[in-house]
Amino acid sequence: MKLENPSPIDWKFSQRAEQLQSSAIREILKVTMRPEVISFAGGLPSPETFPVERMRAAFDKVLSQQGKSALQYGPTDGYAPLREFLADSLSTSDSKILPDQLLMVSGSQQGLDLLGKVLVDEGSKVLVETPSYLGALQAFSVYRPEFESVDTDEHGVVPASVAAKGEGARLMYALPNFQNPTGRTLSVERRFELVETCARMGIPLIEDNPYGDLCYSGEPLPKMLNMNSGGVIYMGSFSKVLTPGIRLGYVVGPAPLIRKLEQAKQAADLHTAQLTQMVVYEVIKDGFLTEHIPTIRTLYAKQCNAMLEAMSKYFPEGVQWTRPEGGMFIWVTLPAHMDSKQLLDEAIQQNVAFVPGGPFYANNPAPNTFRLSFVTVSPERINQGVEILGKLIKAKL
Ligand code: PMP
Repeated sequence: MKLENPSPIDWKFSQRAEQLQSSAIREILKVTMRPEVISFAGGLPSPETFPVERMRAAFDKVLSQQGKSALQYGPTDGYAPLREFLADSLSTSDSKILPDQLLMVSGSQQGLDLLGKVLVDEGSKVLVETPSYLGALQAFSVYRPEFESVDTDEHGVVPASVAAKGEGARLMYALPNFQNPTGRTLSVERRFELVETCARMGIPLIEDNPYGDLCYSGEPLPKMLNMNSGGVIYMGSFSKVLTPGIRLGYVVGPAPLIRKLEQAKQAADLHTAQLTQMVVYEVIKDGFLTEHIPTIRTLYAKQCNAMLEAMSKYFPEGVQWTRPEGGMFIWVTLPAHMDSKQLLDEAIQQNVAFVPGGPFYANNPAPNTFRLSFVTVSPERINQGVEILGKLIKAKL
């Protein structure tokens, strides 16, 4: 049976849904699916780093030995052995993290949404870096905050700007390591000052850290989580150190906040898949990441260097860029009169893509900025793509 003349529905979306917009990046990614395009646009990790065989063996083992519990519903806070393992690895000699301070989430992106849901009212002041991670702006926007962009320089967020602008803020969202989009890192002194400033002002501080382990040399810098303030909410993710397709991340914070997030998560999706949590635990429990992460660091460092070298060779004077010490991104600032969106249109004609900087700003976008990712392109193609960009930029001078 079928209706003869169905009348089309005039969809009336909620006011909240009217806030939703497609991410600018997802739109660009559609263009970059073409194989001839040299894409510096994606935020995707390199698939060469995915431990496919190791994951396959772990799926096999979990399903054959614990198949019934792996395929059953599970607890909202997550798979206990994995939470215990993570709590231990996040603890330091003078900062103990307990398993009940952790909530497993379906990618840290879900953590951002849940945090918005439980901490942000309409009109709440939310402090963000200038620029900041587009996906966080998108996640928080749904809850209709007033964003306040705090000053950021080459050492990351300026704590004095948080003190000056933060009165009454409901949260500060910070990306201390190899920030998306700029690749910048917050200095250790600044970390401490930021934690201290937020604690003094009663502002919860989100430390979003998907890239922290991808440092090209030395050891990861200390986490603000371990600086003994009760107000830090830490977010970790397996997307950049294992694979993003498993959608697994975690939020760490004081137990009362975690219990509230757990209620929000129950409403959202009951819990994150048991199967993937058990598989990830199986993969990492004997220290696999300590051998695996250095291979990712080496690959990305090589590609980052190839891009920096090509930029010094082909970009004209007047163009500035960051020199990341880890992670996946370089941030470019063109001379003030140039518009990176126009540059993108021309670059796409020549099969090169990147992400214009505008959408990464909560307020006052800088149209002359853009983000480059180097991790999914070979050094030869990086050189080719940057040469094309350099020529297009020169033609605009
Ligand atoms: N935070 C930042 C800064 C990111 O760059 C990303 C991914 N691009 C996320 C969070 C979301 O990561 P996940 O895959 O864990 O949801």
